[in-house]
Amino acid sequence: MSHAIDRLPRFPLATLPTPLEEARRLRESLGGPSRAPRILIKRDDLTGLALGGNKARKLEFIVGQALAEGATRLVTTGAVQSNHARMTAAAARAAGLEVTLVLTTRTPTPSFAGNLLLDRIFGADIRFIPAGPDPKLAVAPDEAERVDEVLTELRARGERPYFVPVGGSTPLGAIGYALATEEMTDQLTVRGDAPSRLYFASGSRGTHAGLALGRAMFRPPYRLSGIAVSGGEADKVPRAVRIARDAAELVGFAGDVPEDDLRTDQRFIGEGYGIPQAECIEAIALTARTEGILLDPVYTGKAMAALVHDVRGGAVSATETIVFLHTGGGPGLFAYGDAFAGV
Ligand SMILES: *Cc1c(COP(=O)(O)O)cnc(C)c1O
Repeated sequence: MSHAIDRLPRFPLATLPTPLEEARRLRESLGGPSRAPRILIKRDDLTGLALGGNKARKLEFIVGQALAEGATRLVTTGAVQSNHARMTAAAARAAGLEVTLVLTTRTPTPSFAGNLLLDRIFGADIRFIPAGPDPKLAVAPDEAERVDEVLTELRARGERPYFVPVGGSTPLGAIGYALATEEMTDQLTVRGDAPSRLYFASGSRGTHAGLALGRAMFRPPYRLSGIAVSGGEADKVPRAVRIARDAAELVGFAGDVPEDDLRTDQRFIGEGYGIPQAECIEAIALTARTEGILLDPVYTGKAMAALVHDVRGGAVSATETIVFLHTGGGPGLFAYGDAFAGV
């Protein structure tokens, strides 16, 4: 099956392997070895591409395919502070391509801060579309139609746009996280660690699908604790299952990817996508002050809030070892200054 992966077009974007580090002071702050588990942090915030994050692993396969198809431009979508859009803009430039971003905004004139500033610096063609009424959803309800209009316009100009669905959550993108599982499993073997669970933020579910496929393929010791950062579980679970199973087909893996691995913990969404609750802000400050590591207000802060909650509540025991997958997102902090006013 690894031969099938080796045959897929891949454009190098990520600095790999990323470090796997023990967070001793974070453990200490949660009660120390008698109360809190060992915590390892997988530093996918350090993948390198345009300030890093999980999308670099996905984009290696997505951009590889776009180049193989002779694309002239990447087109993708997301929220106005999308890390995925920022990293897709960077990936396009690294591959010599043009880039169009269709971004959902809740305010008519979003400020060019955080990821959106970086999108502008990359020279992306940015199209804003207004959000719908449901704050739990990350993107506009008519996003697909709006993207179709843009693709039609670009083709009429003689371009060959390659559309990257939101979050890069496609079967090709998920392969990046199947391989990340192999990387992590090797690192755990070298360290002699057998963690019981992997905590991570789950948004558009491509990372989750890849981690579930990776678990089926490489049999790491941990179970998956995917922490949802946005609503729509009823639609997203079957979509994640499809992504994982289609990715399995692409890499020639015949085993099953169980649906159970693709469910998420819904308790830490807060008021909605991109709205950090007090527990998220606290988790960001705690991780920064104990480890010198920056989480983000949209994804990893909520995932760490879940881990902190589970440790304090006793759902995770002191005898366990946990891996926290740091998926990046730091640039988003610069658009959330007000959320940290009282911290
Ligand atoms: C996109 C993103 C995620 C979620 O990944 P999905 O594959 O969309 O579920 C998590 N953390 C950060 C920082 C992200 O940018």
